Amino acid sequence: MKLNISPKTTAVYMRVSTHAQNEEMQRAAAMSYINTHKIPMESVKFYSDHGVSASKLTLLQRKDLMNMLDDIQNGKVNRLICYSRDRLARNTFEYMKILHTFKEHDVEVIYVATNSIPFQANNIVLEALLSMFTQQEAMTIQMRKSDSHKLFPVHIFGYERLKEGNKIEYKLKLEIRNQLTDFFMDCSEVDSPEQLISTLAKYKSLLKRNGDKLLKMLRNPFYAAHHKNSSGYHALHYVEPLISLGIYQLIEQKLLRFRKEIECAFKPVTNDAYIVPYCHCGSIMKLRKIENEAYYSCSHKHKKNQISVAELNQATKEKIKEITQSLSPSLIESKCLNYISRLRKQMVQKRGIIERKINALCLNIAMNHSPLHGSISFSRPYEELQFMKKQQEELKETERNLEQLQQEISQITNVVVQQVQEQLLSENQLRMLCNSLIKNVCVSNEEVIFEIYFKDFMRHGVCPGKEIQYACK
Ligand SMILES: [Zn+2]
Repeated sequence: MKLNISPKTTAVYMRVSTHAQNEEMQRAAAMSYINTHKIPMESVKFYSDHGVSASKLTLLQRKDLMNMLDDIQNGKVNRLICYSRDRLARNTFEYMKILHTFKEHDVEVIYVATNSIPFQANNIVLEALLSMFTQQEAMTIQMRKSDSHKLFPVHIFGYERLKEGNKIEYKLKLEIRNQLTDFFMDCSEVDSPEQLISTLAKYKSLLKRNGDKLLKMLRNPFYAAHHKNSSGYHALHYVEPLISLGIYQLIEQKLLRFRKEIECAFKPVTNDAYIVPYCHCGSIMKLRKIENEAYYSCSHKHKKNQISVAELNQATKEKIKEITQSLSPSLIESKCLNYISRLRKQMVQKRGIIERKINALCLNIAMNHSPLHGSISFSRPYEELQFMKKQQEELKETERNLEQLQQEISQITNVVVQQVQEQLLSENQLRMLCNSLIKNVCVSNEEVIFEIYFKDFMRHGVCPGKEIQYACK
């Protein structure tokens, strides 16, 4: 409940990774909004984090963001201006967390980048999808960077990089060439996951590389003097091939077939849970360790209420599987599309109203202004006109963005849902998904209860919001 009737306090949040220029841009975009909407400067507070890449640091490590969230929680801020979604968070999990703080405290959020789609206060699913878009974009940029790295690696095991003028060539190192060839050939001949794992173990010591690195080599077409992108394989003429593309593809098929077993054998040891659980008393559970086993227990009064990380993660994984199997892409799509077309209609209506106002104002100015009158009477309607024209422009931009989103939405929902259902997820993606789908995990003495988001998108309501999934001993 809000007791103070004071005008809105506006926060401006900026995050810059390296360039000072970048901050200027974010500040200018925010200032332009503040000026056009006549927000008094004394009610504006600036927060900025520097030299911080959101993709690398956790929320807690971004000091000013935390300060701002604190101020929001203490009711000191009720409007936020930010350049774009990716300034706040680079993964859905963090974004959802921040989103909940906004919702809880009724914060009006405004994104000021010209291509930003407005904040969807009433559609959390759409906001989640939009944040996934942002991540996808960040991933594409990363991919482009890594593409050039893949084409011209600075170091690659087994090769010597020769540079002459602008020409770069890669030659195999003679001393290791035979051993490397044997490694690839042996791997291409295995018939079972066990054989593959023991082959990897053998070459671990021979080549002095760990299992992860060996697997990476097997998955790198550079050794067949090829590069792979979305349009297929391309020969790299400046690379001396160690194996043929045929052998490479044969190995690739085997790695795919034995994927699960390999993952198990080379899985990194996880110490923490996908989602930190709550105790039934409401307090967050604490991670502890006894010898080699990590487990969570109540940090408050119920020390005996425990669950091991392995058990909890297993239960979470099963829940995710169940949720994703009942997640309906067509349902998500149609709901989002309906919502967007409603928004578009609203925008068109708003724009119509503004257009009529502009026309009336122009007529008014033309009728009442003559060069004989002082300029004072003219400046006010003129300012008003400028303001309305700016609003009109903003609405047009929003309409265009919504139209684009409408076109993209089926694409993105299909990709996301398909990946999820086929379980082609990396450990990190799985973590991200857990946090986007599961709101809370509560551990009581006998059960684990999952509270989930996206209830409206399940087929036949297979997944109720709360469900007992797993019983402890
Ligand atoms: Zn407790």
